[in-house]
Parts: sequence; C-alpha cells; structure tokens
Amino acid sequence: MSTHPSEGFAANAPVLEVALDTPLHRLFDYRLPTELGTVQPGSLVEVPFGRTRQVGVALGPAAGSTVDAAKLRDVIRVLDDRPALSPDILRLAQFCADYYHYPLGAILLATLPPRLRNTAAFVADAPWLVITEAGRQAQPSARARAQRILLDTLRETPLIRQTLREQKQGRHATALVNAGWARWSPTLPAQADFQQTASAPSATAEQQTALDAMLPSLGRFGVHLLLGVTGSGKTELYLRLIDAVLARGKQTLVLIPEIALTPQLEQHFRRRFPGRRIATLHSGLSEKDRAENWLAAPDCDVLLGTRLSVFAPLPQLGLIVVDEEHDASFKQQDSLRYSARDVAVTRAKQRDVPVVLGSATPSLESYAHALAGRYQLIELKQRAVSQARLPSIELVDLKHIPLDNGLTRPVLQALGETLARGEQSLVFLNRRGYAPALYCPSCGWVSPCPSCSARLVLHRTTRRLKCHHCGLETPIPAACPDCGNPDLKPLGQGTQRLEETLSALLPSARIRRIDRDTMRPRAWAELGAAVHGGEIDILVGTQMLAKGHDFPNMTLALILDTDGALYSPDFRATERLFAQLMQVSGRAGRADKPGRVLIQTAFPEHPLFRYLQRHDYSGYARALLTERRQLDLPPFTRQVLLRAEAPTMDAALAFLLRAAALAPERADVSVFAATPAPMARVANLERAQLLIQSTRRLALQAFVREWRPQLDSVRPRVARWSLDVDPLVF
Ligand code: ADP
Ligand code: ZN
Ligand code: ZN
Repeated sequence: MSTHPSEGFAANAPVLEVALDTPLHRLFDYRLPTELGTVQPGSLVEVPFGRTRQVGVALGPAAGSTVDAAKLRDVIRVLDDRPALSPDILRLAQFCADYYHYPLGAILLATLPPRLRNTAAFVADAPWLVITEAGRQAQPSARARAQRILLDTLRETPLIRQTLREQKQGRHATALVNAGWARWSPTLPAQADFQQTASAPSATAEQQTALDAMLPSLGRFGVHLLLGVTGSGKTELYLRLIDAVLARGKQTLVLIPEIALTPQLEQHFRRRFPGRRIATLHSGLSEKDRAENWLAAPDCDVLLGTRLSVFAPLPQLGLIVVDEEHDASFKQQDSLRYSARDVAVTRAKQRDVPVVLGSATPSLESYAHALAGRYQLIELKQRAVSQARLPSIELVDLKHIPLDNGLTRPVLQALGETLARGEQSLVFLNRRGYAPALYCPSCGWVSPCPSCSARLVLHRTTRRLKCHHCGLETPIPAACPDCGNPDLKPLGQGTQRLEETLSALLPSARIRRIDRDTMRPRAWAELGAAVHGGEIDILVGTQMLAKGHDFPNMTLALILDTDGALYSPDFRATERLFAQLMQVSGRAGRADKPGRVLIQTAFPEHPLFRYLQRHDYSGYARALLTERRQLDLPPFTRQVLLRAEAPTMDAALAFLLRAAALAPERADVSVFAATPAPMARVANLERAQLLIQSTRRLALQAFVREWRPQLDSVRPRVARWSLDVDPLVF
C-alpha cells in the first residue's frame, strides 16, 4: 500500500483507491464516475460502505485492482466544502501507519475534526473579527464600556470567534459589527498596522547564547532540546524564534500539554504578535470551533494546540515547538497510541524544518538523544528574572515526625508563617476526591469498585462514591454493605479532605482547591487573576497545579504524599515523580522573593531527593540512564506492548499465549511472558499484556510488521486487543 503523494490522476481513471475509517489494514477500491472529474490525492470523498455512506480519503488510482470490475461501487461525490489533505499530511499519516501498525484510513480520518469527518455539509462562519477603518476612528460612548474595551483590543489584534465566545463577548462583537466598526473575515489581510502592546524584554545572556545556537539553523531540520530550569525564560525564547520564523513568512506550530494553558498562552502570544493570526486547536473547543480553527490553520501564523494539532494543515510550516516535551499527555492512550512529540519530530524531518523540545525535565528518551549528539542540547541554567533564585527544598522525615490528618507540624508552621507574611502557598496532593476510599473499621470492607480492581473514591461534596477508572458512581452507603456497621470512615487523604482540614486549622486563610473536579478549562483565567490579585492565600491541588503558572507572590510549596511512586514497580515512576516535584518546586519563589519547598516523606534517604535538593536534573537523569542501561530498559531498548482485554483473565492470557506462539523467530527481539496488567480489571474486563523488546528499533518494526497480520486470526478471540508502540503506561 502506498499513498502516491505526488501524482494526480486523470478523470477517466477507472478505479480509485480510498482510505476509510475501519479497523482493517487495507484500502478500498471504488469506481470514479467520469462526471466527477479529476480528483486530487487527499480529497475527501463520499462512498457507499456496506449499507452506510462514509467519508473517505482518495489516495490515487488503484494499481491493478483485484476487485471484480462488475462488483466495484461508485464514488458518490467529492466533498468540495472542505480542502483535500495535503501531500505532507498523507505522508505523515503513512509514517504513523507503519510505525504504530495502525490502519492508514483510521489515522487519516482521525486527523480531521469530527465535523469534517461526516457527510453533512459544513459551512464555516468567517472566524476572525477585524477592526474596520471606521472602527479605528470611532469613539464609543463611555456608557458602552464593554464595547469600548473590545474595540481597544481589536486595535491591537484581530480576535478569533471562539475566543470571543469564551470571553462571553459575542454580544459586543455583534454590536461593533452592526455599528460598522468591525467585520467578520474568513481570513486576514496581510499584517495590518496593529500596534505592538507587549515589547520583548532584552534577552538574558543565556537566552542570547541559546538564540545564537538556534537561529542559524532555522531553515533546516534539526532537533533542539531546550533544557531550562523553571522560570528560565523558555517561553520568551520560543517567542523570539517565532519572531524570526514570521520574518521568513513561515508558520509555527506550538504543541502544549494542557488545554487549560491555552487561553493564558494565547493572550501572551497575541500581545506579543499584534496583527498576527494566532489560532488554537484542542479538544475543549466545540466541534464547530474545532472545524473552523482547523480550516483557518493554513492561513494562520501561529497554531497553538494540544497533541491532536500535530496533524493540522500548515502549508508554510517553518518551526515546531513542543513545550513541556516530557509531559505524558502528548501520548494518546487509546486508538492510535501515538506520541505527538515523536510525530512532531518526524513531521519536522519530513518538512525539513527545526523542532524545539522544551522542558525543565526532559524525557529520558530525549535527553539520551541529546547526550548521544543526535539532538542539540541547549541549556538555560538560571532564572530569567535576575533576583529570582531557585527555592530551597527541605524534607520532613515521616519516620520521626508524626502525621495528623495527613499533615506534619513543620508543614503547618510553614503555612502559618507564609500566611502571616501575606504571601501565598501551594499544597500539592495528587489525589482528588475527599478520601481515596471509604472504610469499615469493624469488618475491613474498603469500598471496592464492582467492575475494576480499584477502590471507589469518596467525594463528599457531591455525596458520592466514584470510580476514577470506569466512571461508576453510587450514593454513599448508610451502612457497611458487608456487615451493616453504620459507622463508615474515610480512609486516607484526598484534596477535598485536605481543603477541609486546612480550613479548620487556618480559619483566616482563603483557600482554593484545584483539581479536575473543580476546574473547567475556562476557569483558569479567573483563577490566575484571583491569585495575582491576592484573593487567595493557599492553593490546594493535584498535578494540574504544577503546570506553567507564574505567580510571583507564591513563596511556599508543600508536597504531601509522594512515597507511592518512590518504590513503584513501574520503571518510569521515579522519572515522572522527579519531573513533577521539579515542576511543583518551580512554582515557589518565581519573582524577587525566595521560595521554600517542604516534602513529607518516609524515605528521605532516597537518591531522588538528593538530586532534587540540588535542582540537578542532569545528574538524576544520568543516574537513571545508567540504571536503565544496566537493566536493558528504554531508552536503551525499544518496546511494544500487546494488550488484550477479555471477560476473564484466563481468556486474555490464552489469547496472548497463542499470539506469542505465532511470533516470528528473531534473535534480536525478545518476547516476554504474558502477564496480567498492573491494573488488572477495568469496567468488567480483565486486562493482560505481552511485552516485546529489542535494542534495535528496525528489528522490532520488522518483527511487528510480520507478526501483526497473524494476530487477526488468533482464536479464541478477545473483547479487544491493541498494539502499543513505545508504551508509557503498563
Ligand atoms: P519558563 O517557560 O522557562 O518557565 P518563562 O518564559 O515563563 O519561563 O519566564 C519566566 C519569567 O521570566 C516570566 O515572568 C518572564 O516574563 C520572565 N522573563 C523571561 N525572559 C526574560 C528576559 N529576557 N528579561 C526579563 N524577564 C524575562
Ligand atoms: Zn463492615
Ligand atoms: Zn470502576
């Protein structure tokens, strides 16, 4: 199968090869009626499939179709309300199909926003609100305050419809359009004379060195690993690189891990690049906005988005930035299990443009590439604001200091002192809910989920028990279901309970909890304003807290419970924990006030803390890499995981055993024993897995290429199986 990316084909080509969203690893042949004219490769077409109609991607003339010509069905129509997928996207999807062993059609259709994947016509609104000449001269009356503010913003930058919706400005936008002061535009005219609102600070010496290293190579492929401590000005560096890319008339794709961070970053970019077209793409958008922004992407200057935007159409691509490149959210955990970071590197290579991977704690995969000289290592070791120093990190030894409701005396004391100084604190606990379980002291019942090997989490605010794995929710039982004891107790600490405890202990403190239960994506801007405005003394939250916020008055970070990860069977647990702790620590003392970090742990002698206290990412990364090399673990080996889910564990394991028996014989590829997954049961399905490993990437690829087609024939069948290439979670 190939995608024939370059050659067009004639209107009278009898048979057209079409990629469809099916689980089958094959393309489908259709007759192209002559009246449909020429079809460019990548065009979206509507075809009959079984008894339904589907949208497919036309790839090219089928060379030697094996289907009996009389049985071929006709292409119904070409969907010309949406652009054809460009040759480079076809090529990137082909790479993903080969590398992840996933059907090309399913990948191609998944690159499209949902609205463009179905046959209903899509009519895009003009997405940009642009000021008119009359608007530039206009002086709205003082009473129309909201309109005046919006008009002022439009003087600096055009706004995309979705941003206006998010900020609930739709009404005012309509008023401005009706007054003739603004208009909707499908694309933007070339950069208008917008005024610069945020000027660039002059680069620090380190930033300048980094720029000098990167700027000369802007025109060609290269991977730059930007290792910069939190607050070292990585974002500022991206902005300067983007500036240079804009000057060449090229586009930049910026991949970020969290939807939550887009509005903040978008604002920052808009102020810095007035008049430039900045578009966003993430799953938090409505389907309509997603389709519109995707359609606008080819005309934008900067596309800011989460992992799915790595497949966005960008004809003038000149640079890709992956911010927080180590973040696990770049890896999709279902269907096409791709790593957007790795696909970004491939896309950059195919397009011959540079890619910048930025992080304070890069993945060991990327760091190993840098040490081996395959990636260019660029370091920022100091914080950009000259007075800002890295925080001091202290350990509170739980072997000697007792816990009371999850908190120790030194931690409470530090909170009290910070509060008294009028400064802000952050308390990090990576467990949402009130308590991780509900417990019966008389018989030992611990709120099991009936469908998963997990406990139901107690959520007191909504008065429910919830499974964080399968989503099951039940009311809190009045008595123990096993023994009838009415006196059930919460077991352990979640963020809700912590918030309650802190409110009781520090009644004067203004406390705000942040986790997935409290945060809608749009609440971030409001939260940021509240922290900056000094309306919050203590932020309590999960890892959502850790990412990318810059709060100058935040001087204390408390980390309550991390010990589970220190001795976890997951070999990546310490790498992830270190990254998380560096990130949380990075929230403390970002401006002129020194920061302090306290970590409660029963294992203060663990080497991770030694490196953490010295803010020594490189040291810890090297130590971990040495260990990984000795144990033959990634990045020194490559892995593929075959996962199977079945109603019984026996069935899941039997499938894997049979699959292992079909494995090609190769001396350079190891097939391990099938085992139950660490989280063995989710939503009433038992899960097992089979690990395949090799030191040679190509050997592993060849092995799976030969093996995968045989898996379709394995009997007895299981409910579901999948291949995970470069798996991150087991
Ligand atoms: P990072 O992304 O590495 O965590 P940021 O780019 O957010 O760091 O920068 C941290 C802080 O330092 C921000 O407040 C930013 O405005 C400031 N900053 C960055 N570069 C400079 C510079 N060259 N001069 C002055 N301040 C800077
Ligand atoms: Zn009981
Ligand atoms: Zn469950």
